[in-house]
This record gives sequence, C-alpha cells and structure tokens, in this order.
Amino acid sequence: MILGIECTAHTFGIAVVNNGKILSNVKDMYVPESGGIIPMDSAAHHKNVAEQLYNQALEKAKISESKIEAIALSNAPGLAPCLRAGLEFAKSLAKKLSVKIIPVNHCIAHLEISRSVGAIDPVLLYASGANTQIIAFAAGKYRVFGETLDVGIGNFIDKVARHFGIGFPGGPKIEQHALKGKYVELPYSIKGMDVSFSGMQTKIQQLYDKGESIENLSFSLQETAFAMLVEAAERALAHTGKKELVLGGGVACNSRLQEMCKIMCSERLQKTKFFCPERPLLVDNAAMIAYTGELMIEKDKSLLVSADKIDILPRERTDQVKVTWR
Ligand code: AMP
Ligand code: MG
Repeated sequence: MILGIECTAHTFGIAVVNNGKILSNVKDMYVPESGGIIPMDSAAHHKNVAEQLYNQALEKAKISESKIEAIALSNAPGLAPCLRAGLEFAKSLAKKLSVKIIPVNHCIAHLEISRSVGAIDPVLLYASGANTQIIAFAAGKYRVFGETLDVGIGNFIDKVARHFGIGFPGGPKIEQHALKGKYVELPYSIKGMDVSFSGMQTKIQQLYDKGESIENLSFSLQETAFAMLVEAAERALAHTGKKELVLGGGVACNSRLQEMCKIMCSERLQKTKFFCPERPLLVDNAAMIAYTGELMIEKDKSLLVSADKIDILPRERTDQVKVTWR
C-alpha cells in the first residue's frame, strides 16, 4: 500500500495505490489571482490543503493510515518552495507512520503511468505548462529526445491567452476559439528534435495587435505548435524503433493534439499504438507518483530512503535519474 504525494508546481495531490490499482487520487490546485504562479504562494497553498487531502485520500481508498507501507514523493524537478512543502509533509508523515520514502522524478512518473493503460515501452510526448519533452527509455536511462528550447507549450499558450485577455488557464479557451478559426501562417520552429515557441508567440501578438481574430490565431497556434510536437515525437519513434506513443501533461487534454497524434500513429508504416490516459492521470496527479514508486521498489528495495536522508532536487533532469527498476 503506497501513498503518493505530488507537489512540484501548482497541484498538491495525494493518492493511494496497491498492486498497480489506484484506490484514490485527490488533488487541489493553486490558482494565482492574476498572472503566473508565485512559488511561495503555491507552497503556502500546499501546506494549507495537505492534511485535508490526506484524510480524503484515505477515506476514498477505505484504508486506515496504519496500512500505508511507504510514501512516494515527487521530490524532483519543480519549484523549490513547492517541493519543500511536499517534502516537509512527507517527512513528518513518514516519521509518524514509521515508513520510508521513495523519491520519484515527476517527468518519469508521467511516462510510467502509461503502463496502467496498457503501454509497455512507449515514447512519451509530455506537454504541460512548464515542461515540453519527448522522453523514452533507451540504453538504461530515460532520455530526452527532444524538448523546448525556450518556454513550455502550456506556458506559451497561457501567455498568448493573456495577451488576448481571455484569462487563465488559456489552453481550454484557445481550444474553443480554434473551432471557429481559419489558418494564417505562423513560424514553424523545429531544430533537430527540439522545438521553440517564442518566435510564434511574438508573431501571434503582432498579428493580434494588427486586428487578426482570436479564432484564426487560436486555430493556427494549435495547428502549428502541435504539428511541431507531433513531428518531433515521430522522429523519436523512428529513432528508437518503439511502437507506442503516450501523451502526458495538461496540454495533452487538448482534443486536436490527441487527434493529430492518433493520425500520425495510424499513418506510420511501423504500426504504432497510441495511448492517452484519462484526464485525472494526464494532468499533475499523485496517482502517477504512487504508481511509479510502487514499480520502483518492486524491483529495487534500496530505493526506499529514510526520511532524514531525502532532499529536494528542483533541477534534476530526466536523464540524471539512475534507473535500477527496469
Ligand atoms: P500541467 O502543467 O500539466 O498541469 O498543465 C497545465 C497547462 O495545460 C496549462 O498551461 C493549460 O493552459 C494547459 N491546458 C489545459 N487544458 C488544455 C487544453 N484543452 N488545450 C491546451 N492546453 C490546455
Ligand atoms: Mg506535470
């Protein structure tokens, strides 16, 4: 019985997983009054909601806390104050329950949760607010095959939405406006397998200021930015020879992105299966942390760390993680 804690950015979540089954998965999201995330405020949010979410997660899983055997914590990567809030909560709980902690890399958890929907060894297109990466397991490590060279796709979309004055989070609103739009040309920026969005952002803002419609710009943003991601993901599939693609991150909730991935997979000569977890497992969540923690210690018990030996790693990169559980 593993208790998972997610705390890396705006979401604080707690989940209970047992033998790969998700028994509960609750969360609460910090929403800034205006503008982007203020890390200290998000950390304060996490501290405020932790105890209540913990009780909810136990209740929904119908277990008492004495049943918890280990705590999986997203200790990396993320905003330092948020990670610290999660760590403090995990430490005090670990001491109270006399259990150990499994440190879990948040990005890797987005990939591992795809095993719960049937993928075995996929390429992950991880499209969230701050992160945009194409990750796959190769030669003993989770490697980043492509990534954004500037902002994350979600933050880029949110900035454009802010320029349009349509509020936060921008993604779902841009998706709605895109339904009524037509294509206008935007810079398509892909270098090797890396992508960049800031040129497109400037162009969209210029076109908007000259009177181009929100509908047309939303449609063109999606078509252009998502095509870049799908192109890089396809190259990673071709390079690794893998036959599964999985989506992760909040932007992966977008129906058009899902559709474009599906089309790419179906058009490949090398038959490729497409997986898209349900929304609660796509966005930041604690179930993926608990699920990954369980996978890790099933294979390697030395990944259980005592509470006083664990720290946060705000800048840990996906390929720095020593993988001993595969
Ligand atoms: P995450 O960082 O993974 O929690 O994802 C948050 C990001 O997902 C924000 O930037 C949102 O604007 C974006 N997002 C959420 N829903 C959608 C959607 N339907 N289309 C595009 N982006 C979305
Ligand atoms: Mg995430």
